[in-house]
Amino acid sequence: MLFRNQLSYVSMWFKPNLTSLLLFIISILCLSKIAKAQQSVFSVDEIPAMEQKAHEGKTKSLSSGVGSNYDLKYHRCVWEIDPAVSFIKGNITSYFKTIINGFNQMEFDFTTTLTVDSIMYHGNSISFTQQSSDVLQINIPSIIPINTLDSVTVFYQGIPPNDDTASFYRTTHNGTPIIWTLSEPFGAKDWWPCKQSLTDKIDSLDIIVTTPQQNKVGSNGILLSTILSGNNITYHWKTKYAIAAYLVGIAVTNYSSYSDFVLLQNGDSLEVLNYVYPENLATAQSQSQDIINIIKFYDSLTIEYPFSKEKYGHAQFNWSGGMEHQTMTFLNNFNHALMAHECAHQWFGDHVTCASWQDIWLNEGFATYFEGLTEERYFPNTWMAWKQQKITNITSLPGGSVLCDDTTSAKRIFSGRLSYDKGAYVLHMLRRKLGDSLFFLSLKNYLNDSLLAGNYAHTIALINHLEATSGQSLSGFFNDWYYSQGYPSYHIVWNQSGSAVTLTVDQTQSHSSVSFFEMPIEILFIGQTKDTTIIFDHTYSAQIFSATINFPITRVKFDPELRIISAGNTITEKQEYISDDNQVTVYPNPTKDVLNILLLNNANTVEYFEITDDSGKTIFKSDTYSGTQKLITISTSSFSKGTYFIKLVLKSGMNFKSFVKL
Ligand SMILES: [Zn+2]
Repeated sequence: MLFRNQLSYVSMWFKPNLTSLLLFIISILCLSKIAKAQQSVFSVDEIPAMEQKAHEGKTKSLSSGVGSNYDLKYHRCVWEIDPAVSFIKGNITSYFKTIINGFNQMEFDFTTTLTVDSIMYHGNSISFTQQSSDVLQINIPSIIPINTLDSVTVFYQGIPPNDDTASFYRTTHNGTPIIWTLSEPFGAKDWWPCKQSLTDKIDSLDIIVTTPQQNKVGSNGILLSTILSGNNITYHWKTKYAIAAYLVGIAVTNYSSYSDFVLLQNGDSLEVLNYVYPENLATAQSQSQDIINIIKFYDSLTIEYPFSKEKYGHAQFNWSGGMEHQTMTFLNNFNHALMAHECAHQWFGDHVTCASWQDIWLNEGFATYFEGLTEERYFPNTWMAWKQQKITNITSLPGGSVLCDDTTSAKRIFSGRLSYDKGAYVLHMLRRKLGDSLFFLSLKNYLNDSLLAGNYAHTIALINHLEATSGQSLSGFFNDWYYSQGYPSYHIVWNQSGSAVTLTVDQTQSHSSVSFFEMPIEILFIGQTKDTTIIFDHTYSAQIFSATINFPITRVKFDPELRIISAGNTITEKQEYISDDNQVTVYPNPTKDVLNILLLNNANTVEYFEITDDSGKTIFKSDTYSGTQKLITISTSSFSKGTYFIKLVLKSGMNFKSFVKL
């Protein structure tokens, strides 16, 4: 699912700014500001905020354990819904298979806000209790033997909870009433008795909704029939694909409808059925065409669209975003990125569903990344901006793992920064590590795994497929990037002498849970008329690399294609000494709070010294230096992060040294 209120990318690129630093420099000192992509994008802060708000209260029964004594097989849901009235009346017939001996009681997740009128079993009304913990306990009058298929029907009605966090919404569009549902993750019980566990999908499902005849009902699967009766119409939807309770949805209003068709890789034509507000019909018809390429693209990258025997579809709703109801996404509008995100969920989230909320990134990280892949494929001009926006959001705080470490918190589960963006970027880094063909083959194998297809997956199942397909051990990668927290910052000092280039690459980590991120790093060496990129395998801090570059380097750029989550990187050209008679060293470098300047020869030769930032602005200037001390200590605690230069003005000339403040 995804909330977005603004989806257009506006990228502003700052041109490299080559600044000549100081006068009197014999060798020209050039500082380059790395081109920084900054863009106004959808409001990332609001994604988690809104999703959390939507999910508050839906996580209360996270671990009710309801239904652990039976295997759910089938639901037949019969509802009467008039969007003009906030009310639901219905009956749910559930087929189940007992998996324990002595079975004489069963439970569903179900709100006490709605009233159960009766429960029928083999034609008889049986006893039940609606517990305050939102558990409907049903007493079966006799023991059902283990491995027996049986059924019950629950009749109920009432006004579903209708606060800000409701799963059953009633509102209007253009003055016309609409009711839609949005249950993820645990709101299904607020409008129907079900089993919300993430281990037992409903094997097949009928949805039969009767509503005033001016309405259409959007839902899962294929539309078997619409039957007029008096002033009412009954929509009958059916799916034969296994489905999780939170992916069941209905949307009821005076929709206009039309279909697009997609040719799949297996030669089948897939219907994309659109239910849109009449007032938005023309806009929707032009914008929704994008879904054809999106489905074709996903279908070619991974496996065939998982529900190809039924349909894909969109039903418009007012919630500010989208929800990937299986085979029929509900969405606010037909924005490309929103359609791409929700459609990707049909493979990642619906076909293979996260097996626990700890693994939510298997839904949201994938949907976010596949949306990104459509940017790369169809909007290459905004692909860099997309990546930079993700990195900026991920690195806006020093900690946080992709692994969801607090599943009692809706805020944490639906963290846009971690479950969505960092999850997506971890996939991007894996794709680079494995290469396109092995990466996408791994995903195919994961989606085709008979234990996972139409079922649930933990992260370890994905890791196993990535390792088995690529033949690589990925434990180090996943320890650093998935289980642990934070990101690296790179500090590069380079020097060119003739064609010989040396680089010293330091790495610091934003969080103590990772001691070092072992990563291949890409460095772009830029000259006046040509440039070249070299990949170095960075395995320890202060590692020194050498290369041969046969043109004068004017600028060095780290990770030009944004292949790594990193921030706060610095690049410094190592300065040659101008004067040999008073060598100087500075340490520690990089520095934090205190910088030491050690004069290696005669301190009496120093006139004064000053510190400038990388724009040439003086940050500190000493008085005329009259001391004889060789070690000068300067507090740098008030300095902001960046690269600085010490200029020593000597009686015999000048001397420069650079240092980096972290
Ligand atoms: Zn999503």
